[in-house]
Amino acid sequence: MGGSVVTSAQPRIAEEHKWPRWDQARPNLVLLIGAIVAVAIVGVILAVATSARRTDEVSLNRERQLIQQAIADRGVRVLREVESVAATEQATRAIRVDDDRQWIARNVGNWLQAFFGLDVVVVFDGFDRVEYALSRSGDAGAIDLNAQLAGSLDLLRGRRSAVPSGVIPVGAAQDPLKSGRRAALIQRFMNRPAIVAAVAVGSDSDLALGNERAPIVISVKYIDDDMLAEIGSRLQLPGLHSIDAAAPVGGRSVAITDARGGTIVRLAWKPAGRGGAIMANVIPFIVVAIAGCALLVGLVMLYMRRTAQTIAAGETKLRHLALHDPVCGLPNRIYFRERLESVIEEVRRGGPSAAVFYVDLDHFKDVNDTLGHHIGDELIHNVTRRLSQIVRGDDLVARLGGDEFAIITTCGSDSYSLQAIAGRIIAAVCAPYSINGHNIVIGTSVGIAAIDRRARDAGDILRYADMALYRAKNEGRNRACIYDAAMDAALSHRKLLEGDLLQAIRNEGLTAVYQPIVNASGDKMVGVEALARWIHPVTGEIPPADFIPIAEHSGLIVELGQWMLRRACLEGRTWPGLTVAVNVSPLQFRRSDFVDVVERILEETDFDPGRLELEITESTLIGNLETAELSMLRLKAIGVHFALDDFGTGYSSLLYLRRFPFDKLKIDTSFVRNIETAPDAAAIVHAIVSLGRGLGMRVTAEGVENAEQHLFLRAAGVHSMQGFRFGRPGPAAAIVTRLASPDNYRVGSPDREVALAS
Ligand code: C2E
Ligand code: MG
Ligand code: MG
Repeated sequence: MGGSVVTSAQPRIAEEHKWPRWDQARPNLVLLIGAIVAVAIVGVILAVATSARRTDEVSLNRERQLIQQAIADRGVRVLREVESVAATEQATRAIRVDDDRQWIARNVGNWLQAFFGLDVVVVFDGFDRVEYALSRSGDAGAIDLNAQLAGSLDLLRGRRSAVPSGVIPVGAAQDPLKSGRRAALIQRFMNRPAIVAAVAVGSDSDLALGNERAPIVISVKYIDDDMLAEIGSRLQLPGLHSIDAAAPVGGRSVAITDARGGTIVRLAWKPAGRGGAIMANVIPFIVVAIAGCALLVGLVMLYMRRTAQTIAAGETKLRHLALHDPVCGLPNRIYFRERLESVIEEVRRGGPSAAVFYVDLDHFKDVNDTLGHHIGDELIHNVTRRLSQIVRGDDLVARLGGDEFAIITTCGSDSYSLQAIAGRIIAAVCAPYSINGHNIVIGTSVGIAAIDRRARDAGDILRYADMALYRAKNEGRNRACIYDAAMDAALSHRKLLEGDLLQAIRNEGLTAVYQPIVNASGDKMVGVEALARWIHPVTGEIPPADFIPIAEHSGLIVELGQWMLRRACLEGRTWPGLTVAVNVSPLQFRRSDFVDVVERILEETDFDPGRLELEITESTLIGNLETAELSMLRLKAIGVHFALDDFGTGYSSLLYLRRFPFDKLKIDTSFVRNIETAPDAAAIVHAIVSLGRGLGMRVTAEGVENAEQHLFLRAAGVHSMQGFRFGRPGPAAAIVTRLASPDNYRVGSPDREVALAS
């Protein structure tokens, strides 16, 4: 099939539809999610960093306090060590009373140095003179001990009204200004930070009077690297060491300062890094969280991409379904119309001229009804394939409905080339099909509308093509018509007539005439056929061949048919023994209330149903088999008869004859007209008669005009006849007159007339 035909136009239409796309919203959504996740992660990092910093600050303060406390504790310890030798009775005796230098050297100096590791030991007498001095470095004699230890001496002697600068008293339980027995200070000694512990020597009673003249033992312990290492290891502050006072402040350090802010020593140590530890602990979780988020975002992206793809595929499918015919896959009416609009636009802009071909299949419904829908569908596939092979690559073939196709082609707009294309279409469609073992032949009519620069819009072009198709059908099947302006005029004329016809139906502008139907020998009128007549007030009589199609096309036939039925029943009521035949159009017969309407009219007019004969054509039954059969059975049940009109001109399907309970077959005028000249017409008449008789039906011949036809038909076995030979259609009064004096209307014996003529 013309796949290229379908696909070539598809992107254009698809482009024109701006379908809302899910994937357009996707980047924005992902950005939003990404931003939220990023903000959350940054928030978490900030919170952790802040808490780590805060922890660091807290721990730094704590560490500083611990160090200060440790040094103070050390001061207290040194003081106790000094006390352990100086605040004893032996010491009082040896230092204060005996001034036993040996004892002092052994039990104070050497003992304190060796046993407690103190660096300097000095013993002052009651007048602050150095009585004994020992320095680990052996330079005691070179030190101005009074100057270096003035703070301790002054405090113990009670010579101070304030704590001197440069010293920090430790062992705060005791007020350093109250001259007491002992004092421990942190101060600089020989330019080094040191603990200085001083103890007054004397018994309790000695010292109760004051320390002014008491000997004093002072010991110095440098705050050196060993002490700091010991403190550092105890406090778990690795690398605790003293640093230059001028070193920049900050980091993990503490300045041990006197009351006036003077720095005695600055210590530094390696950060324990609790905050860092927190960060180090938290960072893996954050990394995992970030990785998790990234994974999540990735998965969401993947999911969204899949979803978008699914939606896009769904959209494409929906778009395809919305724009294509489900049976044959061709573009549908919507697609066709959009394409037509763009072609019109192109032509207007100077592109090559184009044309629309409406292709209508004849008898397609018949195929569906008789052979089934699957065969009908297969036939549509075949037609699709054939049409697609005719057109060029960029032309479009569409299926507009059941048996309607349309083609847009740009192959010139002159009538010669248009007719040539139409010829190819008709030849292709009409060539026999072989489907599932069935040989199928269908006909087609083609309506053509050329698209030139004056074309207004798709609606107009479609209307033109439709009018041309209507004309093609009316002119006989298997032909093509090109739209011209005259068709428009004809259409307007038809519209006017439609209005007039409506008025005529409603205002008794129609009349019914009756044509006699006689027995085979022609000597007895057995029935009449009611035929509609319309005398137009302006244009005069309009033949049924003109106004019946208009009525059928506009739907007025329903009202017209009812009017005729009522009229015929009313006028025929008083014609004893005569069958009154009334034509019923397909539209009328297919209405669900048809049977009710007939019953009501019969009742209202009090007409004997047994004398009513409804004439229907085969087209009435097409596509309507079940309901048609039901309607017929219901009416037959009350006595109404049915005649199959114009037999031989339609599908002449045996199916209809067998399935439907017809009482009569009416051989169409066209066969009767030709029986003398065309041998096949005569053969057909014979065949129809034997068929009708075989199925138990009566056979009526229409259009019998002369004695030869009469003779032939009677010989052929026709039951009854109708035609000008036996009487033209006339008013009801004529039938009444004829009934009153039948002899006046009796035709001569056909045998005799024929003999006379020859
Ligand atoms: P039809 O039902 O086949 O009617 C027979 C037609 O043959 C009538 O044409 C009649 O005048 C014509 N006719 C009868 N004898 C002869 C003859 O010897 N020679 C020739 N050449 N013609 C003869 P009419 O009245 O013009 O009607 C034409 C068609 O219009 C009818 O064909 C019928 O199909 C339709 N028609 C007429 N009245 C009605 C109506 O009330 N309702 C419906 N639905 N259709 C109607
Ligand atoms: Mg008829
Ligand atoms: Mg007829």
